[in-house]
Amino acid sequence: MKIGFIGLGNMGAPMAANLAKAGHDVTGFDTAGVSVDGVAQAGSAEAAASGAEVVITMLPNGAILRVVADQVIPAMHRGAVLLDCSTVDVESARAVAEQAQAAGCAALDAPVSGGIGGAQAGTLTFMVGGPDAAFDTAKPLFDIMGQKAVHCGPSGNGQAAKICNNMILGATMIVTCEAFALADKLGLDRQKMFDVVSTSSGYSWSMNAYCPAPGVGPTSPADNDYKPGFAAELMLKDLRLAMQAAEAADADTPIGEAAMKLYEQFVENEDGLGRDFSAMLPRFETRGHG
Ligand code: NAD
Repeated sequence: MKIGFIGLGNMGAPMAANLAKAGHDVTGFDTAGVSVDGVAQAGSAEAAASGAEVVITMLPNGAILRVVADQVIPAMHRGAVLLDCSTVDVESARAVAEQAQAAGCAALDAPVSGGIGGAQAGTLTFMVGGPDAAFDTAKPLFDIMGQKAVHCGPSGNGQAAKICNNMILGATMIVTCEAFALADKLGLDRQKMFDVVSTSSGYSWSMNAYCPAPGVGPTSPADNDYKPGFAAELMLKDLRLAMQAAEAADADTPIGEAAMKLYEQFVENEDGLGRDFSAMLPRFETRGHG
C-alpha cells in the first residue's frame, strides 16, 4: 500500500518503520526533519500525502492536526483514507472527519494505547471511530502496528473511548497511591496490602499490572525510580481532553475533574514533570491530612 506518514516523533517513527518493514511503500514528513529507516522523506506534508491510499498522522494535539488536515486533504485523491492516530479532542477529530468527507475522502480517528514500547514492538491497541469501509481499508495496517483494533462507532468515538479509559486510569492510579500512603500511616505492610487488594474488590490494572509501590507486584516504573513508562504530563493531557469533552457534552465528572487538578498540580508545581504517572505515591507519602 502507498502510505503517507506525517509526524515521526516518539510514536510515529517506530510505527512508520514497522509499516515499511512489512513491505509497504511509506513516505514520511515531520517538521523536525526526522528520517526513519526504510521510509522515504518528503519535503512537505502535501508531498507525503499526494498519491497515498492511506495518510497517517501522529501529531501532538488537535490544533496541529487541523493545520495538517488543511494541508493534506486537498492533496489526497478521492477514496483515500486519513488515519489519525494522535490523541486529540473529540471536536477536532469530528471536524477533520467532516472536512475529509466533503473532499471525497474518509477519515478515521484511531488513538492508541501501549506507549512507545507498544509502537516499537507493533503491539498497540487502536480505538477507532469512522466509517466501516475506511476501517476495512486500514485494518491490515492496524494488524502491523498493533495487536488489537476496536471499531468504536462513528467519527470521534475512538477519541471518546481513549479519554474515558484514561480518565478511569488516572483516577484509579491516584486512589491506589493514596491507599498505599494511608496503609503506610496505619502500619500496614505494602506487600500485605498488595496481596489483599490484588485479589479483592479493590483490584485494578493500576494495582495488579502497574503497581506504584517499588518492590511490590510485577516490575513497573516504580522499580525504575519512576522513569516513564507513561509520563505524568501525558496523563494530564488526556485528563484535560476528558474534561473538555465532559464540558462540551454536559457530563458530570467530579472524580475525573479532581484527578485532572491533582495531575496539574503535580506536573506544574511539584516534581511530576518527566516522571511516571505512578510517582503520585512518593508525592502522597510526604504529605499529611488536610
Ligand atoms: P512527539 O512530540 O514525540 O511527536 C510528534 C511529532 O510531530 C514531532 O516529531 C513533531 O516534530 C511533529 N510535528 C509537529 N507539528 C507538525 C506538523 N505541522 N507537521 C508535521 N509534523 C509535525 O509525540 P509522541 O509521543 O510521538 O505522541 C504523538 C501522539 O500520540 C500524541 O497525540 C500523544 O498524546 C499520543 N500518544 C503518545 C503516547 C506516548 O507514550 N508517547 C502514548 C499514547 C498516545
